[in-house]
Amino acid sequence: MQYTPLDRLEARYDVVVVGSGLGGLTCANRLAGAGHRVLLLEHHFQLGGLATWFKRGGHIFDVSLHGFPYGMVKTCKKYWGPAIRDSIVQLKNIVFDNPQFSLTTTFSKDDFIRILQERFAVPAAVVTEFFATVDGMNFYDDQSLSTRELFTRYFPGRSDIHRLLMEPITYANGSTLDEPAITYGIVFSNFMNRGVFTFEGGTDKLIGLMAEEMQKNGVTICTNARVDHILIEHNKACGVMVGNKTIAAKAVVSNAGITNTIDEMVGQEQFAADFLDRFKNVQVNNSSCQVYFGIRRGETIADIGDLLFTSTAEEFSSEEMRRMDTKSRTFSVYYPKTRPQSVPDYTIVASMNANYDDWAELDSESYRQAKEAMIERCFDDLERYVPGIRGKVDTIESATPRTFQRYTLHTKGTSFGTKFEGLDISRSLHREIHGLFHVGSVGIIMSGWLGAINYGVIVANDVDGYVRG
Ligand SMILES: Cc1cc2nc3c(=O)[nH]c(=O)nc-3n(C[C@H](O)[C@H](O)[C@H](O)COP(=O)(O)OP(=O)(O)OC[C@H]3O[C@@H](n4cnc5c(N)ncnc54)[C@H](O)[C@@H]3O)c2cc1C
Repeated sequence: MQYTPLDRLEARYDVVVVGSGLGGLTCANRLAGAGHRVLLLEHHFQLGGLATWFKRGGHIFDVSLHGFPYGMVKTCKKYWGPAIRDSIVQLKNIVFDNPQFSLTTTFSKDDFIRILQERFAVPAAVVTEFFATVDGMNFYDDQSLSTRELFTRYFPGRSDIHRLLMEPITYANGSTLDEPAITYGIVFSNFMNRGVFTFEGGTDKLIGLMAEEMQKNGVTICTNARVDHILIEHNKACGVMVGNKTIAAKAVVSNAGITNTIDEMVGQEQFAADFLDRFKNVQVNNSSCQVYFGIRRGETIADIGDLLFTSTAEEFSSEEMRRMDTKSRTFSVYYPKTRPQSVPDYTIVASMNANYDDWAELDSESYRQAKEAMIERCFDDLERYVPGIRGKVDTIESATPRTFQRYTLHTKGTSFGTKFEGLDISRSLHREIHGLFHVGSVGIIMSGWLGAINYGVIVANDVDGYVRG
């Protein structure tokens, strides 16, 4: 698809959106659909942000397409149209395999209720009460109850159940049992409700369809364009600087990380002291490591499940799951049915949670060795599910927190934005500086594919009101 080169951009737009993650894409598309002249600037050569893919050795690897909740069907239908909605399909075989239990589930609420009763022998009344409590949690609830306390209330001494309920969420965003139960409740009731879904055809198809839709609506798209500064005059956003080019706008929406936006693109000196006091408490989430395996053409692999939460660690531990030598990882298996192509292709992606600081300072030789050791650990684990896997693979690639930082510019390569405190900062940005908005992963609720798209819609409404008002 042809985008507009930097030197052909106009001097002024109604709105500039900085960053093309799912939040930025949705916001730009909605605003253009509402009649505004919108410019989307992306520093990478590809759109999508963390919703990305890459090609190696004849395979296409998805980076963050492991699963999203059913809510995506409604959201995509309403905000992106039928072509996107119609490609959303369920992943039916979710596998847990660890020293405490091995089971397969559809990851739906009904199935969790069944498993808790039949497999873990929890009385029906306790299960019902637990789900009622979690479903009843809302954003404005008291945040003093921790997830550990919530689990202990309903399943005291049952580290196996704590693992079942928590491990998938820790894989995704590194959450611990000591975080507010509300953050758990939001993710849990979103995800473990009607099962896990994926986009048939892969991330490249999704982002391609989104780009087509944006061009139809008149968004000007410019890639390879890193915004260095958001320009502020008299406490009002008035444009951006890309290298030495200035582009004026009535409003600027940043889809870059909230920490990058405030620290680097705007500058803390533009904000009031009480806002900065709140901003100081914002913690970014952990990052990720991944190993990508491409299966040689002509080879097949049996159906071992779509998403496998595997661990050889005796018990669940968020800290263990972030260690460089963690024994816990998820395998996402992409069969030809989820990525139909003329020649059938199988790929497997192993994902681990990770601390940026463990990887950041390694010299190039130690970094290379650490990546090789990580690949070997993944091979060893994968061998248990796909015997002879080493002989079937023709392409291997790996990513670390440094990779995520390089491609998205996110502080410490965070995979899921910020923890809960980031939401208030993101939502109040435009009250601090007029015409400056943030959209993107913050506070769990606005993170992940569904959260980022929904947030894009919310922010587009705010911006529309501001620009018209
Ligand atoms: C390994 C991994 C696995 C994941 N798995 C899942 C999953 O299975 N399900 C799920 O729902 N979510 C998953 N996620 C999370 C999900 O991908 C993200 O929450 C979501 O895609 C983030 O969207 P966003 O709108 O916040 O923007 P981002 O994707 O963070 O994009 C921000 C964009 O801004 C651009 N940018 C930054 N600074 C500038 C600048 N100065 N100038 C121009 N452009 C700039 C970046 O290049 C990037 O394109 C995963 C994430 C990772 C890393």
